[in-house]
Amino acid sequence: MRLVIATGNAGKLKELRELLPPPAFDVLPQSQFTAVNVDETGLSFVENAILKARHAAQASGLPAIADDSGLEVDALDGAPGIYSARYAGVGASDEDNLRKLLVALEGKTPEQRTARYQCALVFMRSAVDPSPLICQASWEGRITPDRRGTGGFGYDPIFELVERPVTVAELPAAEKNQLSHRGKALRGLVAQLRELHPIS
Ligand code: IMP
Repeated sequence: MRLVIATGNAGKLKELRELLPPPAFDVLPQSQFTAVNVDETGLSFVENAILKARHAAQASGLPAIADDSGLEVDALDGAPGIYSARYAGVGASDEDNLRKLLVALEGKTPEQRTARYQCALVFMRSAVDPSPLICQASWEGRITPDRRGTGGFGYDPIFELVERPVTVAELPAAEKNQLSHRGKALRGLVAQLRELHPIS
C-alpha cells in the first residue's frame, strides 16, 4: 500500500516508516507532491488533522495520514491548545512560545500547573473519504517554572512527567516515543490500519 504523510518533519516520517514497514507499506512525504501547506482553520486537533490529510490525499491521489498536536494547560482553560505552534504569534519560535507560557503561569502553585499533550492522527483513503480512521491520545504532565533538559522540542523542557520529576527534554528519544501522545496515537492508528490490511 502506497500512502502519503502530510508532514515536512523528517522525524515523523522516520517514525511512521518504522511502524509501517516495506514491502507492505510505501510511505511517501507530502513534499514529493506539493509545496503548499493547508491553512489550519479547524477548532480542534482532529479537524485540523482531517484538513491536512484531505489536502495531502488531494495533492497526491494517494491515501494519506496526518497528525495535529499541541499542549493544553488547565489553568489557561486549555490554551495554547490548537494554537501551540503559534502561541506567541504567527512565525513564533519554540523559545518565544515557551517563554510566553512561563510568564502566563508565573505565581501558580505546582497543583495549578497541570497540563497534557494531545495528538490526533487521521488516515483517509482518498480526499473524499467520508469515514476517516481517527486515533487520539494524550500525555499528562505539569508545567515547571524553569526549563530543564536539552532533548525533544517545543515545550518539552518545561513539561514534567506525572510519574517522576523529569521533564520530557531530559528523557532519551526512545523513551519519549514510547510514552508520548504521538507515539501512542501512532500505534493505535497503525493497529487499525493493520486490521484493514493484514500483513503476513
Ligand atoms: P504539530 O503536531 O507539529 O502541529 O505541533 C504543534 C505544536 O504543539 C508544536 O509546534 C509544539 O509547540 C507543540 N507540541 C506538539 N507535540 C509536542 C511535543 O511532543 N513536544 C513539545 N511540543 C509539542
